[in-house]
Amino acid sequence: MTDSMLAGVELGGTKCVCVLATRAGEILAEERVDTLAPEITLPQIKQVLARWFGAGRPIGGLGIASFGPVDIDGASPRWGHIGQTPKPGWAGIAVAQELGEGLGVPIALDTDVNGAALAELRWGAAAGLEDFAYVTIGTGVGVGLIVGGKPIAGFGHSELGHMRIARVPGDTWPGSCPYHGDCVEGLAAGPAIVQRSGMRASLIAADDPIWHLVGHAIAQMLHNIVLTATPRRIFLGGGVMAAQPQLFPIIRRELQASLAGYVSSPELDRIDDYVTAPGLGTRAGPLGPIALAAALAPQAVRQVIPAA
Ligand code: ADP
Ligand code: ZN
Repeated sequence: MTDSMLAGVELGGTKCVCVLATRAGEILAEERVDTLAPEITLPQIKQVLARWFGAGRPIGGLGIASFGPVDIDGASPRWGHIGQTPKPGWAGIAVAQELGEGLGVPIALDTDVNGAALAELRWGAAAGLEDFAYVTIGTGVGVGLIVGGKPIAGFGHSELGHMRIARVPGDTWPGSCPYHGDCVEGLAAGPAIVQRSGMRASLIAADDPIWHLVGHAIAQMLHNIVLTATPRRIFLGGGVMAAQPQLFPIIRRELQASLAGYVSSPELDRIDDYVTAPGLGTRAGPLGPIALAAALAPQAVRQVIPAA
């Protein structure tokens, strides 16, 4: 076998993770690079990749799981470019082209959360499920909504974390999203919790009323996701969920209350299994680009011509 390994890069807001893994998802090497300006960070990542590819290893593809917005439309002339982002210097950068240059392997590109969702499908708690949602509540709110084994996509990737929702009656806090104010991310992501409470999230008591407001916002998003795609399961991960497990029962209760019995399914009846934690833990992120490379869905693939 000449291509039994895959390389991946997870481009994150604070750090980037380079991964070398087998096609079976076994991580062989992992190297971290801080996310600074692209002219600093991208050459550092390229150095890692050059070292791995240059060692004569049989690497069959490169997966890139990137923060968004990023153009993942294979038919677009802007494929591989980062979109409008507040991250200094990154808007318009051709990350896939820069990272893949000279490697001579096909590239699969998608968002970080879609990558993590597909890793859960291939190797984690979503194994055997064609239809599910992988949600991360962390610095932002991201959703990988998998339908028929693929992330939903049209001209771009979905941004379900920015959906608008019904508020808790009487709650008028404006929210923290610079674009939408009180979208789900503006109400439930880590920075929103810190802004609203005025203290570090780790110092807020587990029975503080703020968790009801946060859980309600997440449950409202899940209401819309259930009615949109009827996923067979919903996985809730990310730093906020990991640190605040009391959110799970709040979210389950609020989701059932909001759906009000309108949709019924054996899956939804077992709400503790239906809304649950993901399986790969901290490996979901780094395995995301490996899952993308392992799938190499046609619309996400570009063959990069090796440098002369
Ligand atoms: P990221 O979203 O940056 O990729 P994580 O999913 O690990 O990474 O989430 C990190 C975020 O989790 C932090 O930005 C912070 O907002 C939030 N967080 C960290 N610790 C806590 C805590 N104890 N309680 C609630 N939220 C927390
Ligand atoms: Zn928003």
